[in-house]
Amino acid sequence: MHRILIDLRSDTVTRPSQAMRNFIAAAAVGDDVYGEDPTVNLLEERVAELLGKEAALYVPSGTMSNQIAVKVHTQPGQEVICEENCHIFNYEAGAPAFLSGVQLRPLPGEYGVMNIQEVERAIRADNLHLPPTGLVCTENTHNRAGGTIYPLNNIAELSQLTAQKGIPLHLDGARLLNAVVATGIPAKEWAMFADSVSLCFSKGLGAPVGSVLVGTEEFIRKARKYRKIFGGGMRQAGILAAACLFALDHNVERLREDHENARLLANELKSVPGIFIDMKQVQTNMIMIHVRHPRFDALTLSQALLREGLAANAVDSERIRAVTHLDFKREQIQQVVDIFIKLMKVT
Ligand SMILES: *Cc1c(COP(=O)(O)O)cnc(C)c1O
Repeated sequence: MHRILIDLRSDTVTRPSQAMRNFIAAAAVGDDVYGEDPTVNLLEERVAELLGKEAALYVPSGTMSNQIAVKVHTQPGQEVICEENCHIFNYEAGAPAFLSGVQLRPLPGEYGVMNIQEVERAIRADNLHLPPTGLVCTENTHNRAGGTIYPLNNIAELSQLTAQKGIPLHLDGARLLNAVVATGIPAKEWAMFADSVSLCFSKGLGAPVGSVLVGTEEFIRKARKYRKIFGGGMRQAGILAAACLFALDHNVERLREDHENARLLANELKSVPGIFIDMKQVQTNMIMIHVRHPRFDALTLSQALLREGLAANAVDSERIRAVTHLDFKREQIQQVVDIFIKLMKVT
């Protein structure tokens, strides 16, 4: 193991600050399975309000949040339309098939955005042979596309289509607040177009654990039941929810710094020979670094970076993803650039 000096693998690597820990230590708690944890209840109220929905549910992870949404919205044997690089399709270990008995219908996307005509064509007709379309999922910001923002008008037209077809729309908003801060469009306006939204606190917001799922009262009542079935009913969870409340109060606007740092870093890296950055893709806190070098592919470059103390994951054989976050400081940008320059030299 090499010592990691700079960690750009993900915004999940952030550790709770001392101030957050102090806030956690003072949290009032109760048994949340009985609905008696005041801190969890407060977090749920605040997130429901933030996203303009009737109710909310605190869950241990973004994966559980998405999977509860899939479970509540669908019936076994149905099909779920999603973008081919989305988290639900790629990074949730096949859970939709495992937990909900649904099949996914991944569609190609451009910067994570599905083509509306293709979505319309993918919605199944009512026919004995066909799996009924039970749900459409979208993701904002889009992780595997490089932290890109799903434009509001694209979500609006998707919402119009699904509403017209009577199909629910789920928004995986793990990093929705990154989109909010980057665009200035309030969270409510994005959430308005979806029937359910999932928000992560363990990413750029810097909390150690947890996500919140929002929707109608009826949706959340069912979601609460599935949270129990999936093993996510926690007791004095206010200890964790307190960190999320702290994050809402202190770490939302701060996401702007991550975005600025990503842009500054990308601007420096883009002129380093042997790597290529599509600046159109650098919209929030991620940089997709395309490796075009005689000696390295993405995997071997990521290993070489690690030997220099810089951790950044290869997404595939051609791309390395670098994510800025709470524990990455502006002063470290030059160090990162220097490591790349040193390695990319063709000797
Ligand atoms: C991180 C992430 C999730 C949830 O991940 P967990 O590790 O299960 O909390 C869901 N969707 C997207 C887009 C993510 O980036």
